Amino acid sequence: MELRLENLTKIFTNKTGTDTRAVDDLSITIESGTLVGLLGPSGCGKSTTLFMIAGLLKPTSGKIFFGDDDVTKLAPEKRGIGLVFQNYALYPHMTVYKNIMFPLENMDVPRDEAIARVKEMANLVGIGTMLDRKPAQLSGGQQQRVAIARALVKKPRVLLLDEPLSNLDARLRLQMREEIKRIQRETGITTVFVTHDQEEAMSISDKMVVLNFGVEQQYAAPQIMYNEPANLFVAKFLGNPPINTLEADIKNGYLMINDQKFMKFNVKDGSYMIGMRPEHFRVAEKNSEEKVKVDIKEIFHVGRDTMIHFELNGQNIRALVDSDSVEDNDNTVELTLRRNRIYIFDKDTGKVID
Ligand code: ATP
Repeated sequence: MELRLENLTKIFTNKTGTDTRAVDDLSITIESGTLVGLLGPSGCGKSTTLFMIAGLLKPTSGKIFFGDDDVTKLAPEKRGIGLVFQNYALYPHMTVYKNIMFPLENMDVPRDEAIARVKEMANLVGIGTMLDRKPAQLSGGQQQRVAIARALVKKPRVLLLDEPLSNLDARLRLQMREEIKRIQRETGITTVFVTHDQEEAMSISDKMVVLNFGVEQQYAAPQIMYNEPANLFVAKFLGNPPINTLEADIKNGYLMINDQKFMKFNVKDGSYMIGMRPEHFRVAEKNSEEKVKVDIKEIFHVGRDTMIHFELNGQNIRALVDSDSVEDNDNTVELTLRRNRIYIFDKDTGKVID
C-alpha cells in the first residue's frame, strides 16, 4: 500500500500562545512495500509525523493517503495500521499467545483463522515456541518480537515503528535490526521506522527522510543521501567519524586550499562551505595535478585504515587513508579526493551547489 503525505503540518500552541511548528509542510510518497526511516535530531518532529499517520494526532493542515484512500479524518482503529512503540506495551498478565491474539478479539475473524494467524505471526518473528510464557519471562528482544507479531496479526496496511530498538542493548539492537528488515521483506508491508540513530536508519531503510525543525531536508536512499547530501545539515548528520567542513574560496574557478589551487569547479567565484568525508581522501598519485600538500599533525592506526590529522584553511581535518600509504615518520603527505566527493555548500542557506 502506497503511503502519501501531502503538505502535512502540525503546529502546537502552548499556553503562552507561542507556536511550535513540529511538522512543517511535509510532502512525501512512500512506495508500496518499502521501509522508510524517519530520521533527525531530538525534537525534529519524527514522532509527531508518525502519530499523525497513526491518527493519534490531528494534523493542523495537510492530508494523509493510504493508496487512494484519504485517511486524514479517519479514526486510528479504522486506518489499518500496526503500531510498535519503544516500550512494547505488552499486557503483563497475558501470555504471549493472548497478547498476539488480542487485536483479533473484536474482529470478525473466524476462530480457526485467528489461531492460525497468531501461530503464523509468532513463527514469522521467531517466538513460536514461547506462546505460553508471560512477557516477564522473555528477554527484551523477545518482547519486541511479540510486539511486532501483535502489530502484524491484523494484517495492517501500514506498519509504524517508533524507536522500537532503543530499549535494547547494543548487540540485540543489531540483531533486531536485521530481524525487522527480514520481517518487513517477508510481509512486504509498507513500513515507517522512526529513529534518531543514523547508523540504524542507514542499515535498515530503503529510503530515509531527514527532518530538522519539522522540515524535510532530504528524502532518498541511504547511500544516495550519504554520497549526495542535499545540504550541509544532512552532510553533517550522516557519517561517523563526521564529515570535515571548512571555509574556502573559489578563485578564477579554482578551489583554493592552503593557498594552493586544488581543483577546478564550474562554480562562480566566492566564499563557500566545503565538506569532505574522512574516508573519501586518498593519497595522491605522484603525477596528479589535483592534490593538496598538508603537514601531518598526528597519525593513528585504526585497524585497516590510518587516520591522519592536519589543517586545511586553518580547520582541523581528519582523513582515513590506506595504512600502507603513509609511514609513521612522514611529515607531509599529498592528498586528493574525487571531484564528486567534494561538496560545495552555500554559506548562508547550506544548500549544496556542486
Ligand atoms: P525525540 O527524538 O526527542 O522523540 P521527535 O523528533 O520525535 O523527538 P517530536 O516529539 O515530534 O520530536 O516533537 C517535535 C516538536 O514538537 C518538539 O519541539 C516538541 O517539543 C514539540 N511537541 C511535541 N508534542 C507536543 C505537544 N503535545 N505540545 C506541545 N509541543 C509538542
